[in-house]
Amino acid sequence: MTERASQAISFAIHPSRDPVPAARRAELLVEPGFGQVFTDHMVTAAWTAEHGWHDAQLRPYGPFSLDPACQVFHYGQEIFEGIKAYRQAGGPIVTFRPAANAARFVGSARRMAMPELPEDAFVRAIELLVAQDRDWVPAEPGHSLYIRPFMIATYVGLGVRRPSPSYLFAVIASPAGSYFHGGPHPVSVWLADGYIRAAPGGTGAAKTGGNYAGGFVGQMQAIEHGCDQVVWLDSARRQWVEELGGMNLFFVYGSGSSARVMTPALTGSLLEGVTRDSLLTLAADLGIPADEGAISVTDWREGCAAGEITEVFACGTAAVITPVGAVKSTGGDWTIGDGAPGPVTRRLREHLLGIQFGQFPDPHGWVHKIC
Ligand SMILES: *Cc1c(COP(=O)(O)O)cnc(C)c1O
Repeated sequence: MTERASQAISFAIHPSRDPVPAARRAELLVEPGFGQVFTDHMVTAAWTAEHGWHDAQLRPYGPFSLDPACQVFHYGQEIFEGIKAYRQAGGPIVTFRPAANAARFVGSARRMAMPELPEDAFVRAIELLVAQDRDWVPAEPGHSLYIRPFMIATYVGLGVRRPSPSYLFAVIASPAGSYFHGGPHPVSVWLADGYIRAAPGGTGAAKTGGNYAGGFVGQMQAIEHGCDQVVWLDSARRQWVEELGGMNLFFVYGSGSSARVMTPALTGSLLEGVTRDSLLTLAADLGIPADEGAISVTDWREGCAAGEITEVFACGTAAVITPVGAVKSTGGDWTIGDGAPGPVTRRLREHLLGIQFGQFPDPHGWVHKIC
């Protein structure tokens, strides 16, 4: 398997004979929302224990035909990624740190006992799809093409003695406006009560659908309490802050030239965000000390009351940076700062978007040109 996996995978190209007409595409691109509209093509590749990765192709977007007994439907063996392509001023279409997503996809595959897709094939699949569907990359400032690579277990049968011996890898793409409607307005958050997202030794660090499946009940609880998103706490003590829904969290302490940022350390039950990692570097570049550490609910509440915690924001590829304005929990409610997006949040957001959209220099070589 390792020998096969190291062989370069070549992709057959089968363009659509029936792409969406340009006028209709332009209509769809006016307000694409998030994850509602899909481009003309997708990339797929199959893996079997016998043949390794094979039958890789770019082909028209369309439904899969799968046997109802496929393992993914029953045991949820699935992993995914999220990455964006940006149309920069002057024309080039780029993506952001695709090698980081490729490496994380390998890590998720290992945890879920799935085959590893060679990192260069992961990046190549994205390049092929984005280049083919380049007209779907929005030109509107701040809009982008959201790319969703994923892998599912396709073995037909209900036995669970060992993981599936066959898999399907696919990449689809969807033009995206703002993830949260209305852009970077502060969200309100609910501290999960009675439910956890991940536990030591579990799958929290893997990007797998099951983490989301198990999390919707917490998200519903948040909505029932009038909040936008759920905050996940550690499984053992329900005290340490881990993540916000599908995003990582940052806390800003102090203000002005003494501001510093802190994000929960990677304990094994958090998802290691590419945005999180980029912001740790970017904050330091901007002269804002950036650390990873443990932040408790008590620190959060008391830090806000004392004025020490001045801003909190969530980050991820889909929503970029989203300020958190208010917290609700069974232990009380509080607001962060004056409830409006703070200066550190806005500065980091502008810098990250500035690099992605080509308005700011890219000192770390994060931007990856596609076409
Ligand atoms: C994908 C994801 C993130 C953010 O990761 P990015 O690489 O920054 O997009 C954070 N938390 C969870 C649970 C995720 O699934």
